[in-house]
Formats: sequence, structure tokens, C-alpha cells
Amino acid sequence: MKTNRENDSVPLGSISSHTNPVGLPWPRVTREEWNDYRWQLAHRITSIGDLSGLRYFPREEADLLGRVIDTYHLSITPYYLSLIRLDDPDDPIARQAIPSPDEYYGMEVGEDDPLEEEKDMPVPGLTHRYPDRCLMVVTNFCSMYCRHCTRKRIWPLGEAAKTEFELNKMFGYIRRHEEIRDVIVSGGDPLTLPASRLEFILKGLRKIPHVEIIRIGTRTPVVLPMRIDDELCAVLEKYGPIWVNTQFNHPREVTAEARRACERLLRAGVPVNNQSVLLKGVNDHPEIIRQLNTQLLKAKVRPYYLFQCDRVRGLEHFRTRLSKGIEIMEALRGHTSGLAIPSYVVDVPGGGGKIPLMPNYILSMGEQRTVLRNYEGIIVSYEEPQDDGRLSAFPETGRPAPRPDVYRLMTGEIQALIPAGNERMAKRRRRCESASPTT
Ligand code: SF4
Repeated sequence: MKTNRENDSVPLGSISSHTNPVGLPWPRVTREEWNDYRWQLAHRITSIGDLSGLRYFPREEADLLGRVIDTYHLSITPYYLSLIRLDDPDDPIARQAIPSPDEYYGMEVGEDDPLEEEKDMPVPGLTHRYPDRCLMVVTNFCSMYCRHCTRKRIWPLGEAAKTEFELNKMFGYIRRHEEIRDVIVSGGDPLTLPASRLEFILKGLRKIPHVEIIRIGTRTPVVLPMRIDDELCAVLEKYGPIWVNTQFNHPREVTAEARRACERLLRAGVPVNNQSVLLKGVNDHPEIIRQLNTQLLKAKVRPYYLFQCDRVRGLEHFRTRLSKGIEIMEALRGHTSGLAIPSYVVDVPGGGGKIPLMPNYILSMGEQRTVLRNYEGIIVSYEEPQDDGRLSAFPETGRPAPRPDVYRLMTGEIQALIPAGNERMAKRRRRCESASPTT
């Protein structure tokens, strides 16, 4: 089976003057047009009518899919569309871009905001959950709307970017909270903003002395790589250090154009990390993830996270069991370079944050020996050092030694460790106090 590009038999990024046998709707696009992100944005597929012409899904599904996009709109760049094997009904690239009846039937399952970003939003668009980090949603617009998007709830609000007034309110909050040292600029896709607006955001953040790290969450290198141009890179370089976190989910997305886009970012001093989402029917197989991460390493992109798909409304058909993620991690460790192994994490509902999950390599742990297993199933006894497990003090810095609480837990001296200020325990204490007779 061939992609549209292979059918063309012309170099990548130049579907020029060819009639595509599976129906790409731009038979006469020039190379210059194709490589111009403005042309790509102007020619996005945005209606089911556009898709029907591609003969990708049965016509009888058109009504149903129309109802899906009434709620969750549709947009596919010509570039991303050209990666799809339109004659494969189970194509993993199409699955990320083209709505399916499952999306419609799954709309009653899940929540709009399972991570409760809105509940930790002191200023519209800014989530402040962890002490030293915050998230800015600077636009609702994406050049390609991923069907598996966690932030689908913001799509019906329209395709607007935040105004300067709204951004200034976010800067004001960050300025007042000196504990914030790391800001994630996200959306929507921030790299779809005009370079001048992006510069406004980065300049605003750089004026705040305690902001040390700026991270940008974007799928632009994957779905619109021609947008990573000199103008954009100059802005990113000017306000560095900046990290880009992107989302390649399948090895077929790592094209020559995508590699070039990542290379440009790197040359502008912007390291690129990848945050894949584990998606049923897209990449829920160890070999796909292994190939993806190997391709990414060759493009000097670090495989950083493999995210469990969130339980967002309409995403149930993408979700895998946690055991699938563990199976993938088990198949990677020892079978590929450690650099190609991401952290598998689940962002737990209710705003509990990210929890890393991995296969269990510790079979038992005693005072003198720990029994481990390796990736081949070989079981090894590891001899522990003969100390009492206590950490020594830090005389040079004058800092007190950490309290050896875990040691006390292991010796049975205490039964549980409960963080100070735990509200549930405080409630219990208050209940006990109010129930005890007064003297
Ligand atoms: S690019 Fe990111 S924000 Fe936009 S639809 Fe995809 S996952 Fe969602």
C-alpha cells in the first residue's frame, strides 16, 4: 500500500502537476505553494464534504461525521493529508485526523476536563497547579485538530488567539508569583501564531526575572513543518532558552520535512522533546513505538514521554489499558538504546498530576540483598552496602540532613508517611477533636 507521496513519484514536499490516483484535491500545486505554510493553512480540509471527495469513508457515514464536527471541528493540512494512505480504512495517520463514528458514539463517555485544568485557573487561560510551573493557553487554534486532543473542550470556543489584554493579565499573575520559574506556552498550537504575537508572549515572559524556563507545546513540526521558518526561528533564538515539546505518534510522521523542521529548531538553540500519546489503532504496539523513537533519535529529537490517553469525552476508542503501556515499556527496555526509551506516564484524573509507570524489576528487597530481574528474565541478587540506610549531613552547605523517614518505614518504626498539611487527615483530626468530651 502506498502513501499519496509514493504514488506521486516526486520528491517529498513537491506534489506538483500530478493527478493523484486516490484523489488529493490539489493536482496542480507548485513546489513553492506546497512549501509555504500560508498556502497550507489556506487549503486546509475543514468539511466532511471535502473529505467525501477523497473516498476515504462510506458516504452513509457522512451525516454522522457531520454531527461530530458540529461539536469538534475538523482541520487537516494538505501536508498531513498527504501522509495518509487513503485506501486504508485503518490508517494510523488518518485515525488522528479524520473523525470516526466511534468519536460520535463515545461522546457520552469521559469528561471535558478530566485533568481539572480549569479548576486551577486563577486567570482565564492560565493553569497554576504545581508550585514552580504554570501553563498558558495562548490560542485555541491548531492547523490540524487531532481527534485525540486532551483540550478538545476549548475548540467550541472558537479559533481565536488570546488578546494582548488577556496575555497581560497572565503576565501580571506570573509576575506576582515569584515561585513560578517554568512556564509552558500551549494552546491550541502557539507556533501557528504570527511571529509578532509569539514575540509579544516570549518578550513578556522574559521581562519577568524569576521565569527561567519557557517550554512550548506544539504539533507544528508534525502537521505543518514548513511553518518552522527563518522568521519563527529568529524569534525563538532571541528569547531562549526555550524548549519545544512536540508530539510525533507514528514513525510515518517523521518525514524529511519534519526532520528539517526539527533541525532548524535545533540550530536556533531550541532542544526538541517528543511527547507521544499512546493511541489504540495508531501506535499501541511495541514495534511501532520502537521504530518511532529510533527515527526520532536519528532526527536528534529526544523521546521524552509516552502519555496514557486521557479519559476525555469522545476519546474512549483511543484509550488502551495501562497494561498495554507497560507491555510496550517492557519490550523496549534492553531491546533498544536507553535514549530511545521514554517515560510512560498517566496524568491521573482530578488534577493529581503525572504518575510514571514502569514494569516491576524489583522482585524483593531485604536489608542485605535486593532481588532484581533483567529484561531477559534473568533474576539477580544485588548486595546492598552494609550501612544503616541513614543519609549523612551536609556539613559544607550547613543544610540539615534529610529526615530518614523511609528508613523508619522500612524498619517498622512507623507505619505510614503522610505529607504535612494533608487535608483529609486534618478533617479526621477535627472530627476526632469535636467528638471528644470537653473537660
Ligand atoms: S495540536 Fe495539540 S492542542 Fe492542537 S489539537 Fe493537536 S493535541 Fe490538541
